[in-house]
Amino acid sequence: MRRVCSASDTHEFSIHGLDGLSTDDLWDVHDQALSLALRSGAISSSRPKQNPDSPLARPTLLDVKTELAERNMRECSLCERRCLVDRTKGETGVCGVGEKSYYFFEQRLWGEEPPLVPSHEVFFSGCNMRCAYCYSWEALLDTTKGNLLVPDEFAGLVDRRRTEGAANLNLIGGEPTVHLPVILRSISRLKQPTPIVWNSNFLMSQESMRLLEGIIDLYVGDFRFGNDECAQKIADVDRYFDAASRNFKWAANSADLIVRHLLIPGHTECCLRPIAKWMADNLPEAPFNLMFQYVPFYKALEDPSLCRTLTSDEEREAEEIVSSFGLNTDRWKTYLPGRPPVAEAGSGEVSTTVIVRPDGRVAIMHLHGDLIHIARALSNGGESQ
Ligand code: SF4
Repeated sequence: MRRVCSASDTHEFSIHGLDGLSTDDLWDVHDQALSLALRSGAISSSRPKQNPDSPLARPTLLDVKTELAERNMRECSLCERRCLVDRTKGETGVCGVGEKSYYFFEQRLWGEEPPLVPSHEVFFSGCNMRCAYCYSWEALLDTTKGNLLVPDEFAGLVDRRRTEGAANLNLIGGEPTVHLPVILRSISRLKQPTPIVWNSNFLMSQESMRLLEGIIDLYVGDFRFGNDECAQKIADVDRYFDAASRNFKWAANSADLIVRHLLIPGHTECCLRPIAKWMADNLPEAPFNLMFQYVPFYKALEDPSLCRTLTSDEEREAEEIVSSFGLNTDRWKTYLPGRPPVAEAGSGEVSTTVIVRPDGRVAIMHLHGDLIHIARALSNGGESQ
């Protein structure tokens, strides 16, 4: 290995330019610098960073990560789909996202787990999964929906939301992984120390997991399917379970983690049970948020097996399964122990979205607690919307 990174016991290191380095050498630089920075605690995003306008001490580890992510886009394997397309030349893979990234909504919101709010949530256009029930399906299909993400402008927006009281930057989709290069470049431009939340379907490639390491304070991961067959049928993804479970383990070793599972009607035994078992065997301490907010959108409206809400029996059975495996279903409601809080306590408010569809049906998103049961009681017999 050519030594291209000199390091001391501080977080500082020097590299003699990035352009001339091969990608293999750049990964060597990355791994050395990451190890050093993690030991010194120098790159936690919640700690003050060097002024991004300073000419001193550049390139930084974040610059190295950004360069690697941008190179990856030329033969894209940012996620486990591994389309190997050159997105810098206008080619697109499964996600349909090219070189540029767009976000269709951003705001301080109170709809996430209590320790995270108020959270500056950013919803990106484009996703690498094709979940039949996707509630942001318009942004799934239109990858240029919303605002073009320009790193300097976006960093300014994030800094402003932080000043307004946002406890963290919460990167959501679609799926943030497909936008990793521009996200890293934006983070490198932040002037305010800001905890970063990676809110993802966990289909990242191993390369992307390495690039996220040391940057992310908290992973919020949707563990969607308990087997490959359901993942293929509902989300058009092959070899889902191995990739997702590998990434959950990796995330738990490198940052805080909340695992979510949105219960899908009719998928208690095939999906929830294997997920609960895997969690008990592998991450028994990880906070697990079992969610009952399923509402059919998109293709699920045409699929009789998916076009309904959960029954009370399904919810009760799901709670019994999770309880029988001893999963930690309370911890996500409070600060995560053993690490500094990611956010200050929120006000207790919840941002709820009401969507009236062209056919007159009404969907209510981000309902919590007893409100879910009240809404269901008001709906048509509790079994449909
Ligand atoms: S991000 Fe994933 S889905 Fe999109 S082009 Fe790259 S490998 Fe394919």
